[in-house]
Amino acid sequence: MAESPHTDVLVVGAGPVGTALGASLGGVGVRTVVIDARPDGAIESSRATTVHAGTLERLDDALSGLGAEVAASGAWARRSIMWHGRRKIGEIRWDGMPTRYAAMVNLPQAEVERMLRSRLTARGGHLRWGCRVTALEQDADGVTVDVDTATGTESLRARFVVGCDGARSTVRHACGASLPGATYPERFLLADVDLDTSLDETCTHVFVSTHGVLGLMPMPHGWRLNGTLTDDEHLTPDTLPELVRARLGRAAEWVDLHAVGWANDYRTHSRLVDRYRAGRVFLAGDAAHLNSPVGGQGMNLGIMDALDLGQRLASVVVDGADDAVLDGYEAARRPAAARVLRLSRSSTRQLVARSPVERFARDQLVRVAHRLPPVQRRLSVGQAGLR
Ligand SMILES: Cc1cc2nc3c(=O)[nH]c(=O)nc-3n(C[C@H](O)[C@H](O)[C@H](O)COP(=O)(O)OP(=O)(O)OC[C@H]3O[C@@H](n4cnc5c(N)ncnc54)[C@H](O)[C@@H]3O)c2cc1C
Repeated sequence: MAESPHTDVLVVGAGPVGTALGASLGGVGVRTVVIDARPDGAIESSRATTVHAGTLERLDDALSGLGAEVAASGAWARRSIMWHGRRKIGEIRWDGMPTRYAAMVNLPQAEVERMLRSRLTARGGHLRWGCRVTALEQDADGVTVDVDTATGTESLRARFVVGCDGARSTVRHACGASLPGATYPERFLLADVDLDTSLDETCTHVFVSTHGVLGLMPMPHGWRLNGTLTDDEHLTPDTLPELVRARLGRAAEWVDLHAVGWANDYRTHSRLVDRYRAGRVFLAGDAAHLNSPVGGQGMNLGIMDALDLGQRLASVVVDGADDAVLDGYEAARRPAAARVLRLSRSSTRQLVARSPVERFARDQLVRVAHRLPPVQRRLSVGQAGLR
């Protein structure tokens, strides 16, 4: 017979999603352990940059004012301006949104994770590094999880397990769920740089050109560049300045790029899991959905999953609510993910328009549409997750 559970909830993965979930559960008396395969908390690569207003408001409510702390550390972009060379095509105004966070708040993911982690420990959650889940099995009372550690293999047992273990989720595989969808044909570039510019530093700037797209986002220290790459372009810190110049076109004189901290290329996906729940096992964040970085939604969507599921698990574990509350998780979060995937697919398609006809049509559409208040509202409030 299986032994009784060691803990109420075992969260697999201490990225932003697992840490947010652990913090929300720890604070309301749910015995929670968060484990992660990484030997320590170091983050290898630069990833998300934006915490949207809807997420900040939710973090305030769920984690005692954490949204305000994140917002105070971030760089606020009040507008996102779209350019073709030196010609402004359109803009999204974040500063008109009905919220105390009327901006895109930009902060490196590593910094957001650090803040979430300190909330997790302050609220009584436990975090263990160097624990890689290899398999799991569930029965009527709980889930048994096999974990590899530096000192050998352990068996952990919990009433519920949540897979927040990212795109290649072991938990997803182990509970038989799949992640259907597609991989974008485009390659994307990502770089953290220092630059001098005459561009407005309280705005994000997106340049579209025949060479591709380039976004410049002000960060608390320096700028983040994000854009598209063609198959024959080779990205290194040395080739980056030329790739940037090509995309800026006649606006190149506005930007003097003088130090490249880090540059990398990557491919991205549009995928949504076939089920969020398998018995006592749940999936959240990148383990459940992947979308293009256009619109900066992935981490935001995942944190919102975590806070929704945290509330539901707490009501079952602490208040003895009916199990049906847990079925409500998928009902609430699948439509949100499907909407983000739809939005980011259409924005990505528009941005990477390949033919001259498509590019012309996109520029005309943006010129007209960005002036219409309902479109402005949909683009700002909708992307910020404020509905
Ligand atoms: C290049 C790039 C740019 C991005 N830009 C943005 C942006 O601007 N805005 C935005 O909102 N999102 C962005 N994203 C997406 C964002 O980074 C992810 O959505 C976010 O990291 C997902 O968080 P997560 O906690 O679900 O997964 P992850 O951050 O991937 O964390 C998963 C954790 O699980 C651990 N783990 C994995 N397997 C196991 C195992 N078997 N056992 C134990 N632990 C395990 C890993 O070590 C890791 O710590 C970007 C992503 C990329 C790649």
